[in-house]
Amino acid sequence: MSHTAEIIAVGTELLLGNIANTNAQVLSESLSTLGINVFWHTVVGDNPDRLREALDIARRRADIIITTGGLGPTYDDLTKQTICETFHQKLTLHPDILDDIRTFYESALHVPMPENNTQQAELPEGCTVFDNPVGTAPGCAFECEGVHVLMFPGPPHEMTTMLRRCGEPYLRKLSKEVIVSRDIMTFGMGESSIDELLHEKMAHMTNPTLATYAKPGEVRLRATAKAATEEEAQAMLNPVWDLVCETLGDVVYGVDVSGLAECCHSLLLLKGLTLATAESCTGGLVAERMTAIPGASAVYRGGVVSYWTSVKGAVLGVPQETLDTYGAVSEETARAMAEGVCRITGADIGVSITGVAGPDPDERGVPVGIVYIGLATPEGTFCRKVDFGRRRRDRIQGLAANHAFDVVRRWLTGLPVETV
Ligand code: ATP
Repeated sequence: MSHTAEIIAVGTELLLGNIANTNAQVLSESLSTLGINVFWHTVVGDNPDRLREALDIARRRADIIITTGGLGPTYDDLTKQTICETFHQKLTLHPDILDDIRTFYESALHVPMPENNTQQAELPEGCTVFDNPVGTAPGCAFECEGVHVLMFPGPPHEMTTMLRRCGEPYLRKLSKEVIVSRDIMTFGMGESSIDELLHEKMAHMTNPTLATYAKPGEVRLRATAKAATEEEAQAMLNPVWDLVCETLGDVVYGVDVSGLAECCHSLLLLKGLTLATAESCTGGLVAERMTAIPGASAVYRGGVVSYWTSVKGAVLGVPQETLDTYGAVSEETARAMAEGVCRITGADIGVSITGVAGPDPDERGVPVGIVYIGLATPEGTFCRKVDFGRRRRDRIQGLAANHAFDVVRRWLTGLPVETV
């Protein structure tokens, strides 16, 4: 039997928009991998009547109810009491939990436990206790008339720690199915073009399913399969992977990777090559994305932010004649920047970016959105010209950085680099 869960986040701060409901996101993700359907997210303020109403609705349409928040010691923390009233559970004091809370205060916070924390040690009779090693409020779970109720504290790191340690093992015992997803990453084709190519095949899929998620310049396709075992689900995903690769070709750059930077990092490691960057209009964005990857030093030598034309000449060694004849934003300068950064860092590959991020054209009249990406390699130097049009400055910078990584990954996989 498949289960249906409803997540109820308790907290007036959520309704006021002071904080985002990230707990629901973490819980939903976890439930989906456990094969438990989530059809509703509810948010309710610190108000016992409205929480009671939400619980009454939830118990009619879900057989797992998960709450977060309202387990603290203050007067507005009413989740536990309200749930116990609704499900006719008796609250009993757990002396061992009270000892744990007292110890937490004395040894971790170095203050005596305030007396109102005693109520945190009261839990429904016969429940499964979820320890809280990073805070004071324990969580718990119980079953009543076929409905499982799980309570977690509100602070996200407490909620997540408890979910991994206690919540997931509890839920795993209830679920007979697992859901496995694979994120297929693409670059260079818009979401609507991908949809056009795959729509018919995607529309008929029920298990596994395929969905697209677009972010600037990239489209992620998530293939998801539900099966009795992880192996079975993985096997169901293989044909979907084949179908996407056959249909989209070399715009697919990886699976289950965080982005193009990670893809380049892995390829550079595999080939035993090093990279350096020379950036103008992106101001170090490629370098930042590269160094965000743990272990970047194995493949990334360093970079130069050559924002002024004079720096392109003095530091990267772009010939003055090139700068005078073609300008700072030109194919010739991009090529010379990439070669220059290889020369000064000793890297095997150099990638460069020079372009106009706006809001105004450059002094030679090169329009906003024109960007040149240079790539110097042991096999020669290449250049890709891209026209992003009149977009926002940060958009142009982000897209240009993506293109720089794309040029690198295409060269490393033996694909032509100058076009997308
Ligand atoms: P405490 O012991 O801290 O009182 P609690 O279980 O009573 O724990 P709340 O008081 O409801 O939790 O929330 C504590 C804090 O946790 C909130 O101020 C907020 O910063 C964060 N929080 C609560 N609920 C959520 C949520 N659904 N998503 C993200 N953050 C949340």
